[in-house]
Amino acid sequence: MWGDDVTLSREGEADVIWGLIVSGFLVLLAQAVIYSIVMGAVFLKRKTIGIGVFYCLLGTMHFLETYLAAVFFIELPFGLISPGSTVMFAGKLAFFLLLYIKEDAEAMRQPIYGLLSGNILMIALGLILRFYSDPASLPGYNPDLRFIDQMGLLMIWGTILLFVDLLALVIVYERLGAPVTNTIPGRIFISLAIVLSFDQLLFFAGLHSLAGVPTLAFYGGWIAKIGAAGFFSLMLTAYLRLLERDASRAATQGMADIFDRLTYRHRYEKLAEQVGRDALTGLQDRGQFDAKGAAMLQAASTAKLSVSLMMVDIDHFKAINDRHGHVEGDHVIRKVAATIAAAKREGDQLFRYGGEEFALLCPETPPGAMVLAERIRAAVANRAAAGLAQPVTISIGIATFPADARDFRGLLLKADAALYEAKTLGRNRVVSSSAAGARPIRSA
Ligand code: GH3
Ligand code: MG
Ligand code: MG
Repeated sequence: MWGDDVTLSREGEADVIWGLIVSGFLVLLAQAVIYSIVMGAVFLKRKTIGIGVFYCLLGTMHFLETYLAAVFFIELPFGLISPGSTVMFAGKLAFFLLLYIKEDAEAMRQPIYGLLSGNILMIALGLILRFYSDPASLPGYNPDLRFIDQMGLLMIWGTILLFVDLLALVIVYERLGAPVTNTIPGRIFISLAIVLSFDQLLFFAGLHSLAGVPTLAFYGGWIAKIGAAGFFSLMLTAYLRLLERDASRAATQGMADIFDRLTYRHRYEKLAEQVGRDALTGLQDRGQFDAKGAAMLQAASTAKLSVSLMMVDIDHFKAINDRHGHVEGDHVIRKVAATIAAAKREGDQLFRYGGEEFALLCPETPPGAMVLAERIRAAVANRAAAGLAQPVTISIGIATFPADARDFRGLLLKADAALYEAKTLGRNRVVSSSAAGARPIRSA
């Protein structure tokens, strides 16, 4: 582009070169400034307008960015510069890093999944259109569906790389940035510079093989990306210092913490699973009993079915605690819980009601409720005491809805009364409440 005009004097040539450098630089700078202002403003307002607006903005830019990276270059003395990869891609990484710093890895991951599925869908739809060989010919319109294929492949490649880039970005930001410099701008710059260099290598390989982009673009692009890393680290620092000061993840995290953050969903699911579980036995807890019990009765009432409630209490448990200690007592509670869980039917719901008391909700049991309760009692008497100096037994009180009570509270009172009866009658037995009153089923 420059130096071709042999009539130019050396000074004139230098002026042209400088003019090109300055105008190229100004174009890139203007883009980077506008990009940062708009992205930063939308991100700042995410609590009011919703983070979806920011995600959509990232997605829209992704198309233009990939297109420009493949076809639009500015020629500067040190190589060919693409505004797509220099400004938009580097900016995108910077804003993903901001997303991680202010939100978390989960928030960072969502747009990547969206981009990946969107790009695959784009290729699929483009391919289908290619089966239609006769699009209406309008003057000036030339549908180039091969271009969509090419772009789509490049965008999928770019998104897969983006996924790897973002993992690397977080790890470098958390670990490598800190030993070298413990300042926020330093850490942001180092992570952006390292990841952008790595990405330049791999994305360029894709560009070169799919779009035939010349090697000169590699070096120019790389130098420009390092410049962009500097620019965006200043922008992000300004954002964090001036607009959102409570830098939640400014401090360095340990490696374990990073992976903990990156597996946020996994941790969340584990936590959600633990909610409503009793810590000692792993059974459903008292809160679950109250909620599920009432719901089960409601459903049974609508379907005109019955539900039996068994209240289970370990016999002379205080003595076990006193003689063998609380640790052994805990062990017995766990053992009894596991034995009942193994003996109950598939659809029965077992809860730890309190200390050494359990509740079992059994749909559609009478008259089998007593048989089932007896099976459970025998299982505990035969198995739960293994390894203990003395036998472990349980007493069970049964009440059935709707025969014994019309509501959940009434059912609980009746089952409790039956349990009390079982205790007074000598323990290690099952007592069923009935409209006529509690009656013993089996004595030990
Ligand atoms: P009964 O046959 O009449 O039920 O006699 P009991 O000794 O079992 O009497 P009770 O049910 O009142 O005793 C419950 C005891 O269980 C009291 C408490 O110290 C103990 N306990 C409650 N929760 C736990 C626990 O989580 N671990 C241990 N080791 N003991 C517990
Ligand atoms: Mg008790
Ligand atoms: Mg007891």
